[in-house]
Amino acid sequence: MKKEDFDVFGVSVETVKNKNEAKVIQFMRELIPQFPEFDYCTICIQDVYALSLNQLSPRYIQAGTIVLRKELKDEDYRDVVENSIEQVIKNKNHP
Ligand SMILES: [Zn+2]
Repeated sequence: MKKEDFDVFGVSVETVKNKNEAKVIQFMRELIPQFPEFDYCTICIQDVYALSLNQLSPRYIQAGTIVLRKELKDEDYRDVVENSIEQVIKNKNHP
């Protein structure tokens, strides 16, 4: 997305990022290498990412402040990402 896509009435909300996205990326990098069956193709990597995010409700971080609701622990993210990797390996979206 371009910088102006984040503009709302002249205020940039670009610094507000979804915390789940960062956590899912972090745990995908850590956990995927533990699955030798994973093929590292674009479709499978994007499937794991989407599947993981769909299982997590959005959490947004504002620069400086953290919007806290029920905080998820790293173990929760780990479980979700691990589960998604296993599902994608079992049900590949391509031959
Ligand atoms: Zn694949």
